[in-house]
Amino acid sequence: MKPLAIVTGGASGIGLAVAERLLDDGWGVAVIDADAGALADAEDLLSGEEAIFLTADVTDEDEIAEAFDQAVDAYGPVSALVSCAGIRREMPFEQTSAEVLRQILEINLVGAFIAAQAALARMDDALSIVHLASASGLRANAGCAAYGASKAGVKMLTEVMALELAGRGVRVNCVAPGLVESSTASFDEDAERRRAWIAHTPQRRSVEPGEIAAAVAYLLSPEASSITGHTLTIDGGFSVAGVKHA
Ligand code: NAD
Repeated sequence: MKPLAIVTGGASGIGLAVAERLLDDGWGVAVIDADAGALADAEDLLSGEEAIFLTADVTDEDEIAEAFDQAVDAYGPVSALVSCAGIRREMPFEQTSAEVLRQILEINLVGAFIAAQAALARMDDALSIVHLASASGLRANAGCAAYGASKAGVKMLTEVMALELAGRGVRVNCVAPGLVESSTASFDEDAERRRAWIAHTPQRRSVEPGEIAAAVAYLLSPEASSITGHTLTIDGGFSVAGVKHA
């Protein structure tokens, strides 16, 4: 039987690219997403592949437990988890309500925490987890008080888990993308923000979802067997860029 990789938020965007890549790499993939419509579209797209599609909200421990149990019934113990479920909402700090902060933390940080605990409870000898952090969680970007805080939290969650769980055969890493344009993560509605990101990115381009998926595939692979607690930035140089003179 193929080893099981669970991809949360796998119905669209980066998560869908990750699911496609892991299927190509020979994993049995459980695609979990809260959006049943997007999940049905993903199922159409990936029909005939070794994948199952399960509707669950990462903030709901019972729904996640049930979905993970169904995935384990289909493929055996969890060997890999990629937590892509997340939301991005950007606004000036003074316009950010506590309610918005709570919602973003709940999905991006608590959701990753719940999925990680569910995977841990259903692992065999080894488990590799990749979290989706963000360049906005590594450095200060205007409008990202809530989103950036959630992603900085994901980075530290990753590091503490790596420290505590190494002895159990668990590796935990995260990828920190810069600007990724997928069908669902479009910046058409915010052309000025997109222009500013590209202008600040040394490579002067956005990142392809497939480039994130390739990095995730590497971190899950045996080639990365001594890598844990690491944050791999995939951002065209965005997060290291300072002033550039002509
Ligand atoms: P996306 O909106 O295309 O995909 C996110 C998926 O997560 C959607 O299918 C959505 O239905 C699902 N989801 C949302 N809330 C959920 C919940 N509570 N339970 C289960 N599923 C839920 O976004 P994306 O751009 O592909 O982003 C994927 C991840 O990458 C996110 O964590 C995001 O913060 C992170 N990221 C994205 C970018 C970017 O530029 N696109 C940059 C850095 C980090």
